[in-house]
Amino acid sequence: MSLEVSKPWQQVLDKVRTWARVNSPWAIHFNSGSCNGCDIEILATLTPRYDVERFGIKLQGSPRHADVLICTGPVSLQAKDRLLRIYWQMPEPKFVIAVGSCGLSGGVFHGCYNIVQGIDEVLPVDVFVPGCPPRPEGIIYGVAVLLEALKSGKRPERTMTVELPAGVETLQAEVRQ
Ligand code: SF4
Repeated sequence: MSLEVSKPWQQVLDKVRTWARVNSPWAIHFNSGSCNGCDIEILATLTPRYDVERFGIKLQGSPRHADVLICTGPVSLQAKDRLLRIYWQMPEPKFVIAVGSCGLSGGVFHGCYNIVQGIDEVLPVDVFVPGCPPRPEGIIYGVAVLLEALKSGKRPERTMTVELPAGVETLQAEVRQ
């Protein structure tokens, strides 16, 4: 049931929706053919060490409760239909982050007989996080880039490839110690 409200109230409602979306992005993770390297980094990102729940980022088990699909690996022919089914089950507006070089282009699996190639061959991808595999800092930064774009109340104008900001390498070295 849709609620009829006047324009000023509609603007207030839109602002509240955007605030809630930016402050509590619930995510679902799907491996569409990855070697598992990127998935391990995503799991590391969810550990208390990086504590992404302080940003409201929460992993969901059901696509019906998720705003962001974090996808790893190239898309294999076997996973393509499952990936699409998960995406279709997510409520609008929904966003896709492709993690790892395989998600960008097929990576080391590029040209394999059983691979469709990168995730954007199947789904509209909002943010690409490059790396083989990208570290948790890179994945968190990819989510932050998406959320920054959503603050305007719109989805990113075009697909963005995340470049790690200066200083992240140092941070990574510190975290590794
Ligand atoms: S980008 Fe590297 S780590 Fe990630 S799925 Fe591809 S080969 Fe594995």
